[in-house]
Amino acid sequence: NYAHFMNKDAVKDADRAHVFHSWSAQELIDPLAVAGAEGSYFWDYDGNRFLDFSSALVYTNIGYQHPKVVAAIQEQAARMCTVAPGFAVDVRSEAARLIAERTPSDLDKVFFTNGGAEAVENAVRMARLHTGRPKVLAAYRSYHGATATAINLTGDARRFGNDSATAGVVHFWGPFLYRSPFHATTEAEECERALRHLEDTVVFEGPQSVAAIVLETVGGAPGVLVPPAGYLAGVREICDRHGIVFVLDEVMVGFGRTGRWFAADHWEVTPDLLTFAKGVNSGYVPLGGVAISGAIAETFARRPYPGGLTYSGHPLACAAAVATITTMAEEGIVEQSARTGAELLGPGLRALAARHPSVGEVRGLGTFWALELVRDPGTREPLVPYAAAGAANAPMAAFADACKKGGLWPLTAGNRIHIAPPCTIAPEDVARGLEILDGALSVADAHMA
Ligand code: PLP
Repeated sequence: NYAHFMNKDAVKDADRAHVFHSWSAQELIDPLAVAGAEGSYFWDYDGNRFLDFSSALVYTNIGYQHPKVVAAIQEQAARMCTVAPGFAVDVRSEAARLIAERTPSDLDKVFFTNGGAEAVENAVRMARLHTGRPKVLAAYRSYHGATATAINLTGDARRFGNDSATAGVVHFWGPFLYRSPFHATTEAEECERALRHLEDTVVFEGPQSVAAIVLETVGGAPGVLVPPAGYLAGVREICDRHGIVFVLDEVMVGFGRTGRWFAADHWEVTPDLLTFAKGVNSGYVPLGGVAISGAIAETFARRPYPGGLTYSGHPLACAAAVATITTMAEEGIVEQSARTGAELLGPGLRALAARHPSVGEVRGLGTFWALELVRDPGTREPLVPYAAAGAANAPMAAFADACKKGGLWPLTAGNRIHIAPPCTIAPEDVARGLEILDGALSVADAHMA
């Protein structure tokens, strides 16, 4: 009974007293009290509605409160809320089948976790045990989660407060033409140089000590980094030549976000392990997992896998996954995401870039885009410095405030806005979001050099 919480002050007071929030200095934050959500919108206690261009943390691919997913969770709760992970149960079997049918090639077995970081932890564990090697390579400009190994794999500033330097992780630069680490001027050059750099990194680390290369198929948190044609195939080839396990982290980009079931489908590349979470059930109940190739599954056919989780394949989470995946297939939501990107978001964002000098680059696909905001389009100097906080971040904070005042909830990261609405977003809401962004970008323009 939440009757005593019917006003925002009561909700916020209890939050301030008892909830310890992620990534935050607890006394310096002022979380919005959210009263409800539906489709592409959520709202506060004062009746302000926000068009959610962040899909929560890029996970409500099917939108908030989809009635079929809500009903499936309710039905499963009535049938059987929970059961230990060691049993075979229909709902878990069906979720695994629906996922395995969609993952590339022979990734036919699924280990369920509660979220993305645990998926990455277990993928790394599987790779190390499968190869008998200790090291893992991961990219700068990446995010893989906040547990011990996953945060050490992460190639952004969130690692700085956690760096244990004991996780056997080596970082390398992936391709990113707009801010090329290789001083390349074309996609083809960027691709070729990035692959040569990765090969050199493997050779100088000692291939016999490298268990895995872990990559986001499309970099999510680092800014919707779409790999150039040939890059992922090149990484696959390096892995094959050196006996390294190729892990694609699809936690953010899986299940329709990029306009395909998995982002790997765009480049027809098959990893040995694929991690997922978020979109698998739009986060209605926590769920993640690792899809496992035949060869790696074989390693654990007669040898116990030394890992597990109390809630692995939780029935409520699996019921939400079954309903989400089935509904996405029935309602053509993956195709809708692709169409929205190609016909509405892509052209709309490029039109905004043409009008606003603070937009240095537009990139993305499906319902997954980023605008790179700059102080100077010539030098490409970011609108705010890397890992800026406080006063240094004021231009981005002002831009985000303008979005919120206009009724759009933005996802900003560093000098970028990431545009990640639900895959189900209606065309009129795309138009509305673009209009709000148009106004907010004038605020960014005003902060240029
Ligand atoms: N991997 C990627 C690519 C992610 O984007 C995220 C979260 O944003 C994670 C892993 C971690 O997932 P979780 O927060 O569910 O642990």
